[in-house]
Amino acid sequence: MIDQFGRNVDYMRVSVTDRCNLRCVYCMPAEGVASVPHHQILSFDEIARVCRIGAELGIRKIKLTGGEPLVRRGLPELVGMLKEITGIEQVTLTTNGTLLKEQINGLISNGLDAVNISIDTLDPERYREITRGGSVEKALEGLDAAAAVPCLSVKVNCVPLKGMDLNGAEDEEYIRLALLAKEGKADVRFIEMMPIGLGKSFAGRGGDEILGILEKAYGKADLCTGRIGNGPAEYVQFPGFRKRIGFISAVSHQFCGGCNRVRLTSEGYLKPCLQYESGTDLKTLLRGGAGDPEIRAAMEKAFYEKPAHHQFGVNRQFGKNSQGKSCAEEALETKEMSRIGG
Ligand code: SAM
Ligand code: SF4
Repeated sequence: MIDQFGRNVDYMRVSVTDRCNLRCVYCMPAEGVASVPHHQILSFDEIARVCRIGAELGIRKIKLTGGEPLVRRGLPELVGMLKEITGIEQVTLTTNGTLLKEQINGLISNGLDAVNISIDTLDPERYREITRGGSVEKALEGLDAAAAVPCLSVKVNCVPLKGMDLNGAEDEEYIRLALLAKEGKADVRFIEMMPIGLGKSFAGRGGDEILGILEKAYGKADLCTGRIGNGPAEYVQFPGFRKRIGFISAVSHQFCGGCNRVRLTSEGYLKPCLQYESGTDLKTLLRGGAGDPEIRAAMEKAFYEKPAHHQFGVNRQFGKNSQGKSCAEEALETKEMSRIGG
């Protein structure tokens, strides 16, 4: 459906859990993470109901996320349930990849259309440091398993961190990651660190800076024209590369004017923008016996009232919501990324 600023909302990111088997430094604290009790998390039937009503409102693509979605038992079954919904064209997944090898067959047989795998570095020690104990070998096994599936769209996502202690060889990291695209294993995308949750205390590196590093190594890249994928990534093609390099530069190049997405947290809260607290508690409706028309009306209102833009960095005010409030007056999100559903 079209929101108050004329944007077509057709993409919903659905978090299936706040739990994770890793503890990336910019996403989750090392300790003391109070997991949401199971009964507070939407069941698969509840998620499918929200997605079905979302599809009636124009949602066409669903991305399953978390926390780590593959730690939720039976996830492939949910993929199958969502693929059966009339109007849903694509169900995709974002994962750290460490449990992907074991689950890829089930996911594919249930109709998964694409997978994004988060790998911030190929250096085993550095990976262990960033994820607080993870194994990059496991993530790469997951990547290989996904890359071996014909026609599955596979992307690797990296959030570059400033000041990686690699004896000055930090730039080499991105050059090595880009090789995955050169070899044709996956499109590789560099995502700017956003000031959400723990990300507020980490400095990232901008897309333009990473592009400069890669152009020094691989020559001038050509900008890919036309829309690629469901999101705001801009892609370039390097000479001799089989896949593309993408940049999601939410901070340095705000793209809110074309934003098509909303988010459903694992606790059933529908969020029209990552950065604001505003949204609708669908779980209370779902569990309070609300009928489809009531849930649909609540979702429609949240979609419609999607804020004009985030306010990472400079505080711009180019839009007011239907209550006449400017974005700058809306309460900011305080939860961690794993809790919101990144
Ligand atoms: N566990 C899965 C994974 O790592 O892909 C799915 C959830 S995770 C929250 C989704 C993505 O959000 C990951 O690529 C992660 O690097 C990214 N992320 C987490 N915090 C972020 C932040 N503050 N800014 C930008 N990206 C962030
Ligand atoms: Fe887990 Fe993904 Fe957050 Fe890392 S980024 S802690 S893998 S949810």
